[in-house]
Amino acid sequence: MYINENFIKLPKSYLFSTVAAKLKEYREAHPDAELIRMDIGDVTLPIAPCVIEAMHKAVDDMGSSETFHGYGPEQGYLFLREAIARNDYYERGINITADDIFISDGAKSDLGNLGDIYSRKSIIAIADPGYPVYADASVIDGRGGDLLPDGRWSRIMYLECKPENGFKPDLPIHAVDVIFLCSPCNPTGTVFTRGELMKWVDFARRSHALIIYDSAYEAFVSDPDIPRSIYEIDGAKECAIEIRSFSKTAGFTGLRCGYTVVPSKLTGTDREGKEYPLRQLWNRRQSTKFNGASYIVQRGAEALYTPEGKEAVKRNIDIYKENARYIREALEKAGFEVFGGENSPYVWAKLPGEEDSWKLFELLLNEAQVSSTPGIGFGNAGAGYIRLTGFNSPENTRKAMERISNISLSDGEIGEFSRKNDVKAIKILDGLDVLDSITDKLGLK
Ligand code: PLP
Repeated sequence: MYINENFIKLPKSYLFSTVAAKLKEYREAHPDAELIRMDIGDVTLPIAPCVIEAMHKAVDDMGSSETFHGYGPEQGYLFLREAIARNDYYERGINITADDIFISDGAKSDLGNLGDIYSRKSIIAIADPGYPVYADASVIDGRGGDLLPDGRWSRIMYLECKPENGFKPDLPIHAVDVIFLCSPCNPTGTVFTRGELMKWVDFARRSHALIIYDSAYEAFVSDPDIPRSIYEIDGAKECAIEIRSFSKTAGFTGLRCGYTVVPSKLTGTDREGKEYPLRQLWNRRQSTKFNGASYIVQRGAEALYTPEGKEAVKRNIDIYKENARYIREALEKAGFEVFGGENSPYVWAKLPGEEDSWKLFELLLNEAQVSSTPGIGFGNAGAGYIRLTGFNSPENTRKAMERISNISLSDGEIGEFSRKNDVKAIKILDGLDVLDSITDKLGLK
Protein backbone atom coordinates (compact mmCIF):
# COMPACT_ATOMS: atom_id res chain seq x y z
CA MET A 1 0.00 0.00 0.00
CA TYR A 2 1.07 3.59 -0.55
CA ILE A 3 0.99 6.09 2.26
CA ASN A 4 -0.75 9.45 2.24
CA GLU A 5 2.28 11.41 1.09
CA ASN A 6 0.87 14.61 2.44
CA PHE A 7 2.25 13.48 5.79
CA ILE A 8 5.81 13.56 4.47
CA LYS A 9 5.23 16.96 2.95
CA LEU A 10 4.40 18.35 6.41
CA PRO A 11 7.50 19.80 8.05
CA LYS A 12 8.10 18.80 11.66
CA SER A 13 6.60 21.21 14.11
CA TYR A 14 9.63 22.50 15.99
CA LEU A 15 7.91 25.14 18.06
CA PHE A 16 7.06 23.36 21.28
CA SER A 17 9.95 20.90 21.09
CA THR A 18 12.43 23.73 20.67
CA VAL A 19 10.88 25.69 23.55
CA ALA A 20 11.06 22.54 25.72
CA ALA A 21 14.67 21.93 24.71
CA LYS A 22 15.71 25.47 25.46
CA LEU A 23 14.00 25.42 28.85
CA LYS A 24 15.62 22.09 29.69
CA GLU A 25 19.04 23.40 28.71
CA TYR A 26 18.47 26.55 30.74
CA ARG A 27 17.44 24.56 33.81
CA GLU A 28 20.53 22.36 33.54
CA ALA A 29 22.81 25.36 33.26
CA HIS A 30 21.01 27.25 36.06
CA PRO A 31 19.71 24.63 38.52
CA ASP A 32 18.92 27.27 41.15
CA ALA A 33 16.99 29.60 38.85
CA GLU A 34 13.25 29.74 39.46
CA LEU A 35 11.74 29.62 35.99
CA ILE A 36 8.21 31.01 35.55
CA ARG A 37 6.20 29.46 32.73
CA MET A 38 4.27 32.16 30.92
CA ASP A 39 4.03 30.00 27.79
CA ILE A 40 1.44 27.61 29.29
CA GLY A 41 -1.25 26.82 26.70
CA ASP A 42 -3.17 24.52 29.02
CA VAL A 43 -5.47 25.44 31.89
CA THR A 44 -4.13 25.01 35.42
CA LEU A 45 -7.17 25.35 37.71
CA PRO A 46 -9.00 22.14 38.66
CA ILE A 47 -12.44 21.00 37.52
CA ALA A 48 -15.43 22.51 39.39
CA PRO A 49 -16.77 20.38 42.30
CA CYS A 50 -20.28 20.17 40.75
CA VAL A 51 -18.77 18.66 37.57
CA ILE A 52 -16.81 16.12 39.60
CA GLU A 53 -19.97 15.24 41.51
CA ALA A 54 -21.97 14.81 38.29
CA MET A 55 -19.27 12.56 36.84
CA HIS A 56 -19.12 10.47 40.03
CA LYS A 57 -22.85 9.95 39.74
CA ALA A 58 -22.48 9.04 36.07
CA VAL A 59 -19.81 6.48 36.99
CA ASP A 60 -22.29 4.95 39.44
CA ASP A 61 -24.93 4.90 36.66
CA MET A 62 -22.59 2.66 34.67
CA GLY A 63 -22.53 0.11 37.49
CA SER A 64 -26.20 -0.72 37.53
CA SER A 65 -28.24 -2.39 34.78
CA GLU A 66 -31.11 0.13 35.18
CA THR A 67 -28.91 3.15 34.55
CA PHE A 68 -26.07 1.67 32.45
CA HIS A 69 -25.23 3.54 29.24
CA GLY A 70 -23.59 1.80 26.29
CA TYR A 71 -23.09 3.42 22.91
CA GLY A 72 -24.61 6.89 23.03
CA PRO A 73 -26.08 8.90 20.17
CA GLU A 74 -23.30 9.96 17.74
CA GLN A 75 -24.61 13.52 17.83
CA GLY A 76 -24.43 13.61 21.64
CA TYR A 77 -26.97 13.13 24.43
CA LEU A 78 -30.07 15.29 24.19
CA PHE A 79 -29.68 16.41 27.83
CA LEU A 80 -26.39 18.17 26.95
CA ARG A 81 -27.47 19.46 23.53
CA GLU A 82 -30.59 21.00 25.09
CA ALA A 83 -28.58 22.60 27.91
CA ILE A 84 -26.20 24.12 25.35
CA ALA A 85 -28.99 25.36 23.05
CA ARG A 86 -30.82 26.96 25.99
CA ASN A 87 -27.88 28.51 27.85
CA ASP A 88 -25.34 29.34 25.18
CA TYR A 89 -27.81 30.45 22.51
CA TYR A 90 -31.51 30.88 23.37
CA GLU A 91 -30.84 32.88 26.55
CA ARG A 92 -28.51 35.12 24.57
CA GLY A 93 -31.19 35.78 21.96
CA ILE A 94 -29.86 33.33 19.34
CA ASN A 95 -32.11 30.78 17.71
CA ILE A 96 -29.96 27.63 17.68
CA THR A 97 -31.69 24.38 18.59
CA ALA A 98 -30.47 21.07 20.02
CA ASP A 99 -30.76 19.61 16.49
CA ASP A 100 -28.08 22.02 15.26
CA ILE A 101 -25.58 20.86 17.90
CA PHE A 102 -23.10 17.98 17.63
CA ILE A 103 -21.19 17.03 20.80
CA SER A 104 -17.52 16.24 20.19
CA ASP A 105 -14.47 15.11 22.11
CA GLY A 106 -13.05 18.62 21.71
CA ALA A 107 -12.60 21.33 19.14
CA LYS A 108 -9.37 20.03 17.62
CA SER A 109 -10.95 16.84 16.30
CA ASP A 110 -13.80 18.67 14.62
CA LEU A 111 -11.53 21.36 13.16
CA GLY A 112 -9.63 18.57 11.45
CA ASN A 113 -12.55 16.25 10.68
CA LEU A 114 -14.77 18.87 9.05
CA GLY A 115 -12.48 18.61 6.03
CA ASP A 116 -14.32 15.37 5.21
CA ILE A 117 -17.43 17.29 4.14
CA TYR A 118 -16.00 19.84 1.72
CA SER A 119 -14.28 19.22 -1.60
CA ARG A 120 -10.60 18.27 -1.71
CA LYS A 121 -10.20 21.09 -4.22
CA SER A 122 -11.46 23.75 -1.82
CA ILE A 123 -9.25 26.79 -1.41
CA ILE A 124 -8.67 27.48 2.26
CA ALA A 125 -7.99 30.86 3.83
CA ILE A 126 -6.32 31.13 7.22
CA ALA A 127 -5.03 33.96 9.35
CA ASP A 128 -1.25 34.28 9.74
CA PRO A 129 -0.35 33.95 12.60
CA GLY A 130 -2.93 31.33 13.52
CA TYR A 131 -3.67 28.08 15.33
CA PRO A 132 -1.52 25.58 13.36
CA VAL A 133 -4.26 22.90 13.10
CA TYR A 134 -6.12 24.80 10.34
CA ALA A 135 -3.20 24.62 7.90
CA ASP A 136 -1.80 21.25 8.93
CA ALA A 137 -5.18 19.46 8.74
CA SER A 138 -5.79 21.02 5.31
CA VAL A 139 -2.40 19.78 4.11
CA ILE A 140 -3.04 16.23 5.38
CA ASP A 141 -6.31 16.26 3.41
CA GLY A 142 -4.46 17.32 0.25
CA ARG A 143 -5.45 20.96 0.13
CA GLY A 144 -2.02 22.47 0.79
CA GLY A 145 -0.34 22.24 -2.62
CA ASP A 146 3.44 22.59 -2.41
CA LEU A 147 5.54 23.75 0.49
CA LEU A 148 7.21 27.00 -0.57
CA PRO A 149 10.70 28.11 0.53
CA ASP A 150 9.16 30.59 2.99
CA GLY A 151 7.36 27.73 4.79
CA ARG A 152 3.93 28.57 3.40
CA TRP A 153 1.72 26.33 1.24
CA SER A 154 1.05 27.19 -2.39
CA ARG A 155 -2.72 26.47 -2.34
CA ILE A 156 -3.51 28.10 1.01
CA MET A 157 -4.41 31.75 1.18
CA TYR A 158 -2.72 33.46 4.12
CA LEU A 159 -4.50 36.46 5.57
CA GLU A 160 -1.65 38.39 7.05
CA CYS A 161 -2.19 39.96 10.44
CA LYS A 162 0.03 42.82 11.44
CA PRO A 163 -0.01 45.90 13.66
CA GLU A 164 -1.64 47.93 10.85
CA ASN A 165 -4.77 45.76 10.86
CA GLY A 166 -4.70 45.30 14.64
CA PHE A 167 -3.63 41.67 14.15
CA LYS A 168 -7.04 40.80 12.70
CA PRO A 169 -7.30 39.31 9.21
CA ASP A 170 -8.55 41.46 6.32
CA LEU A 171 -11.05 40.02 3.81
CA PRO A 172 -9.41 37.85 1.11
CA ILE A 173 -8.55 39.60 -2.14
CA HIS A 174 -10.32 36.92 -4.18
CA ALA A 175 -13.00 34.29 -3.55
CA VAL A 176 -12.06 31.26 -1.44
CA ASP A 177 -14.10 28.22 -0.41
CA VAL A 178 -13.44 27.83 3.30
CA ILE A 179 -12.29 30.48 5.78
CA PHE A 180 -11.02 29.62 9.26
CA LEU A 181 -11.68 32.45 11.71
CA CYS A 182 -10.75 32.42 15.39
CA SER A 183 -12.07 34.90 17.96
CA PRO A 184 -10.82 35.38 20.65
CA CYS A 185 -7.74 34.44 18.70
CA ASN A 186 -5.01 32.04 19.63
CA PRO A 187 -2.20 33.24 19.51
CA THR A 188 -2.78 36.99 19.24
CA GLY A 189 -5.60 37.40 21.79
CA THR A 190 -7.44 39.74 19.41
CA VAL A 191 -11.25 39.66 19.02
CA PHE A 192 -13.64 40.61 16.23
CA THR A 193 -16.09 43.41 16.87
CA ARG A 194 -19.66 43.05 15.69
CA GLY A 195 -18.96 45.31 12.71
CA GLU A 196 -15.89 43.31 11.66
CA LEU A 197 -17.75 40.02 11.90
CA MET A 198 -20.62 41.45 9.84
CA LYS A 199 -18.14 42.11 7.02
CA TRP A 200 -16.97 38.50 7.15
CA VAL A 201 -20.51 37.12 7.10
CA ASP A 202 -21.39 39.43 4.21
CA PHE A 203 -18.25 38.37 2.29
CA ALA A 204 -18.91 34.66 2.87
CA ARG A 205 -22.52 34.92 1.74
CA ARG A 206 -21.69 36.91 -1.39
CA SER A 207 -18.88 34.54 -2.38
CA HIS A 208 -20.63 31.31 -1.24
CA ALA A 209 -17.78 30.51 1.13
CA LEU A 210 -18.03 28.53 4.35
CA ILE A 211 -16.72 30.13 7.56
CA ILE A 212 -15.42 27.71 10.19
CA TYR A 213 -15.65 29.86 13.28
CA ASP A 214 -13.41 28.66 16.09
CA SER A 215 -14.73 30.20 19.29
CA ALA A 216 -12.90 27.91 21.71
CA TYR A 217 -12.23 30.99 23.89
CA GLU A 218 -15.70 32.61 23.76
CA ALA A 219 -16.09 32.30 27.54
CA PHE A 220 -13.37 34.93 27.95
CA VAL A 221 -15.50 37.59 26.24
CA SER A 222 -17.22 39.97 28.64
CA ASP A 223 -17.39 43.13 26.51
CA PRO A 224 -21.01 43.40 25.23
CA ASP A 225 -19.77 44.86 21.92
CA ILE A 226 -17.78 41.71 21.15
CA PRO A 227 -19.85 38.79 19.80
CA ARG A 228 -19.42 35.49 21.62
CA SER A 229 -21.08 33.61 18.77
CA ILE A 230 -20.97 34.24 15.03
CA TYR A 231 -24.72 33.58 15.02
CA GLU A 232 -25.22 36.95 16.72
CA ILE A 233 -24.69 38.26 13.18
CA ASP A 234 -27.65 38.16 10.77
CA GLY A 235 -27.10 35.70 7.96
CA ALA A 236 -24.37 33.71 9.74
CA LYS A 237 -26.57 30.61 9.91
CA GLU A 238 -26.38 30.48 6.12
CA CYS A 239 -22.58 30.58 5.92
CA ALA A 240 -20.94 29.49 9.19
CA ILE A 241 -20.17 26.45 11.31
CA GLU A 242 -19.26 27.32 14.90
CA ILE A 243 -16.84 25.19 16.91
CA ARG A 244 -16.65 25.39 20.68
CA SER A 245 -14.87 23.63 23.48
CA PHE A 246 -15.21 23.08 27.20
CA SER A 247 -11.40 22.85 27.40
CA LYS A 248 -10.52 26.43 28.24
CA THR A 249 -14.01 27.36 29.44
CA ALA A 250 -14.12 24.76 32.20
CA GLY A 251 -10.77 22.99 32.39
CA PHE A 252 -11.83 20.04 30.19
CA THR A 253 -8.48 19.79 28.35
CA GLY A 254 -7.96 16.35 29.91
CA LEU A 255 -11.62 15.28 30.02
CA ARG A 256 -12.28 16.11 26.33
CA CYS A 257 -15.63 17.59 25.34
CA GLY A 258 -16.77 20.31 22.98
CA TYR A 259 -19.42 20.92 20.36
CA THR A 260 -19.96 22.00 16.80
CA VAL A 261 -22.99 23.89 15.51
CA VAL A 262 -24.19 23.15 11.98
CA PRO A 263 -27.41 25.11 11.35
CA SER A 264 -30.06 23.57 9.13
CA LYS A 265 -29.94 26.38 6.56
CA LEU A 266 -26.27 25.86 5.83
CA THR A 267 -25.71 24.27 2.43
CA GLY A 268 -23.01 23.46 -0.09
CA THR A 269 -23.33 22.53 -3.76
CA ASP A 270 -22.17 19.67 -5.93
CA ARG A 271 -20.54 20.19 -9.34
CA GLU A 272 -23.96 20.51 -10.99
CA GLY A 273 -24.92 23.28 -8.59
CA LYS A 274 -27.38 21.15 -6.60
CA GLU A 275 -27.59 22.20 -2.96
CA TYR A 276 -27.10 19.84 0.00
CA PRO A 277 -27.52 20.63 3.72
CA LEU A 278 -24.11 20.44 5.40
CA ARG A 279 -25.76 19.13 8.55
CA GLN A 280 -26.79 16.00 6.70
CA LEU A 281 -23.23 15.44 5.52
CA TRP A 282 -21.74 16.09 8.96
CA ASN A 283 -24.29 13.79 10.57
CA ARG A 284 -23.34 11.06 8.11
CA ARG A 285 -19.64 11.68 8.70
CA GLN A 286 -20.00 11.50 12.47
CA SER A 287 -22.24 8.42 12.41
CA THR A 288 -19.65 6.67 10.26
CA LYS A 289 -16.41 7.69 11.93
CA PHE A 290 -17.31 8.75 15.49
CA ASN A 291 -19.13 6.95 18.26
CA GLY A 292 -19.82 9.92 20.50
CA ALA A 293 -18.17 11.49 23.55
CA SER A 294 -18.40 9.45 26.75
CA TYR A 295 -21.61 9.51 28.82
CA ILE A 296 -19.64 10.37 31.96
CA VAL A 297 -17.97 13.39 30.40
CA GLN A 298 -21.24 14.62 28.86
CA ARG A 299 -22.88 14.45 32.31
CA GLY A 300 -19.93 16.48 33.62
CA ALA A 301 -20.39 19.08 30.86
CA GLU A 302 -24.13 19.25 31.59
CA ALA A 303 -23.31 20.27 35.20
CA LEU A 304 -21.55 23.38 33.86
CA TYR A 305 -24.99 24.80 33.06
CA THR A 306 -26.26 24.59 36.66
CA PRO A 307 -26.02 27.78 38.79
CA GLU A 308 -22.99 26.29 40.64
CA GLY A 309 -21.38 25.31 37.35
CA LYS A 310 -21.85 28.77 35.85
CA GLU A 311 -20.45 30.39 38.97
CA ALA A 312 -17.40 28.10 38.95
CA VAL A 313 -16.71 28.76 35.25
CA LYS A 314 -16.90 32.51 35.84
CA ARG A 315 -14.60 32.34 38.87
CA ASN A 316 -11.85 30.52 36.96
CA ILE A 317 -12.17 32.56 33.78
CA ASP A 318 -12.00 35.75 35.83
CA ILE A 319 -8.68 34.63 37.32
CA TYR A 320 -7.14 33.87 33.91
CA LYS A 321 -8.50 37.10 32.47
CA GLU A 322 -7.18 39.19 35.32
CA ASN A 323 -3.76 37.58 34.77
CA ALA A 324 -3.91 38.44 31.07
CA ARG A 325 -4.96 42.02 31.82
CA TYR A 326 -2.09 42.32 34.28
CA ILE A 327 0.41 41.00 31.73
CA ARG A 328 -0.87 43.38 29.09
CA GLU A 329 -0.55 46.40 31.35
CA ALA A 330 2.87 45.44 32.72
CA LEU A 331 4.31 44.82 29.26
CA GLU A 332 2.93 48.07 27.94
CA LYS A 333 4.56 49.89 30.83
CA ALA A 334 7.83 48.09 30.13
CA GLY A 335 7.82 49.46 26.56
CA PHE A 336 6.46 46.45 24.66
CA GLU A 337 4.04 46.78 21.75
CA VAL A 338 1.06 44.69 22.95
CA PHE A 339 -2.10 43.09 21.47
CA GLY A 340 -4.78 40.93 23.12
CA GLY A 341 -5.08 40.43 26.88
CA GLU A 342 -8.66 41.69 26.92
CA ASN A 343 -11.55 39.24 26.45
CA SER A 344 -8.82 36.64 26.03
CA PRO A 345 -6.20 34.64 27.95
CA TYR A 346 -3.50 35.47 25.39
CA VAL A 347 -1.15 38.43 25.16
CA TRP A 348 0.85 39.04 22.00
CA ALA A 349 3.89 41.25 22.43
CA LYS A 350 6.98 42.62 20.75
CA LEU A 351 9.90 44.81 21.72
CA PRO A 352 10.32 47.63 19.20
CA GLY A 353 13.49 47.01 17.20
CA GLU A 354 13.62 43.25 17.73
CA GLU A 355 12.38 41.32 14.68
CA ASP A 356 13.30 37.82 15.85
CA SER A 357 10.84 35.99 18.12
CA TRP A 358 13.48 33.53 19.32
CA LYS A 359 15.78 36.34 20.40
CA LEU A 360 13.01 37.90 22.42
CA PHE A 361 12.23 34.48 23.90
CA GLU A 362 15.91 34.10 24.90
CA LEU A 363 16.05 37.59 26.31
CA LEU A 364 13.13 36.97 28.69
CA LEU A 365 14.50 33.56 29.60
CA ASN A 366 18.02 34.73 30.36
CA GLU A 367 17.28 38.10 31.90
CA ALA A 368 14.00 37.34 33.73
CA GLN A 369 13.80 33.53 33.89
CA VAL A 370 10.40 33.81 32.20
CA SER A 371 9.34 31.47 29.38
CA SER A 372 7.18 32.53 26.44
CA THR A 373 6.14 31.08 23.07
CA PRO A 374 7.89 32.57 20.02
CA GLY A 375 5.27 34.04 17.68
CA ILE A 376 7.08 32.87 14.54
CA GLY A 377 5.91 29.34 15.39
CA PHE A 378 2.33 30.41 14.55
CA GLY A 379 3.19 31.72 11.09
CA ASN A 380 5.59 34.03 9.25
CA ALA A 381 3.65 37.12 10.27
CA GLY A 382 4.37 36.24 13.91
CA ALA A 383 8.06 37.18 13.48
CA GLY A 384 9.33 39.38 16.28
CA TYR A 385 6.40 38.59 18.59
CA ILE A 386 5.98 36.28 21.57
CA ARG A 387 2.81 34.87 23.15
CA LEU A 388 2.31 34.99 26.90
CA THR A 389 -0.70 33.43 28.60
CA GLY A 390 -2.85 34.10 31.64
CA PHE A 391 -2.88 30.43 32.65
CA ASN A 392 -0.24 30.58 35.40
CA SER A 393 -1.22 31.54 38.97
CA PRO A 394 -1.82 35.22 39.84
CA GLU A 395 1.25 35.14 42.14
CA ASN A 396 3.57 33.78 39.45
CA THR A 397 2.11 36.11 36.84
CA ARG A 398 2.86 39.13 39.00
CA LYS A 399 6.35 37.88 39.82
CA ALA A 400 7.09 37.27 36.14
CA MET A 401 5.94 40.73 35.13
CA GLU A 402 7.96 42.34 37.89
CA ARG A 403 11.06 40.58 36.61
CA ILE A 404 10.38 41.65 33.02
CA SER A 405 9.84 45.24 34.14
CA ASN A 406 13.23 45.16 35.83
CA ILE A 407 15.16 44.18 32.70
CA SER A 408 16.95 47.32 31.65
CA LEU A 409 18.18 47.40 28.11
CA SER A 410 20.58 49.94 26.78
CA ASP A 411 20.42 50.89 23.08
CA GLY A 412 21.60 48.07 20.88
CA GLU A 413 21.56 45.55 23.69
CA ILE A 414 18.97 43.33 22.03
CA GLY A 415 21.21 43.04 18.97
CA GLU A 416 24.26 42.32 21.14
CA PHE A 417 22.30 39.75 23.10
CA SER A 418 21.09 38.03 19.93
CA ARG A 419 24.58 37.63 18.53
CA LYS A 420 25.75 36.03 21.76
CA ASN A 421 22.93 33.50 21.61
CA ASP A 422 23.08 32.52 17.93
CA VAL A 423 25.68 29.82 18.55
CA LYS A 424 23.60 28.23 21.29
CA ALA A 425 20.47 28.27 19.10
CA ILE A 426 22.26 26.47 16.27
CA LYS A 427 23.49 23.79 18.65
CA ILE A 428 19.94 23.13 19.84
CA LEU A 429 18.48 23.02 16.32
CA ASP A 430 21.07 20.36 15.35
CA GLY A 431 19.75 18.01 17.98
CA LEU A 432 16.07 18.49 17.20
CA ASP A 433 15.28 14.95 16.12
CA VAL A 434 16.38 13.58 19.47
CA LEU A 435 14.67 16.39 21.29
CA ASP A 436 11.27 15.86 19.66
CA SER A 437 10.49 13.23 22.27
CA ILE A 438 11.10 15.72 25.07
CA THR A 439 7.85 17.49 24.19
CA ASP A 440 5.94 14.27 24.81
CA LYS A 441 7.73 13.59 28.07
CA LEU A 442 7.05 17.07 29.37
CA GLY A 443 3.41 16.83 28.27
CA LEU A 444 3.69 19.97 26.17
CA LYS A 445 1.96 18.79 23.00
N1 PLP B 1 -9.00 26.03 18.88
C1 PLP B 1 -8.07 26.83 19.39
C2 PLP B 1 -7.93 28.21 18.85
C3 PLP B 1 -7.22 26.39 20.43
O1 PLP B 1 -6.30 27.20 20.93
C4 PLP B 1 -7.38 25.07 20.91
C5 PLP B 1 -6.52 24.54 21.98
O2 PLP B 1 -5.55 25.08 22.39
C6 PLP B 1 -8.35 24.27 20.32
C7 PLP B 1 -9.14 24.77 19.32
C8 PLP B 1 -8.50 22.84 20.74
O3 PLP B 1 -9.33 22.70 21.80
P1 PLP B 1 -9.78 21.27 22.34
O4 PLP B 1 -9.05 21.06 23.63
O5 PLP B 1 -11.25 21.40 22.55
O6 PLP B 1 -9.47 20.25 21.34
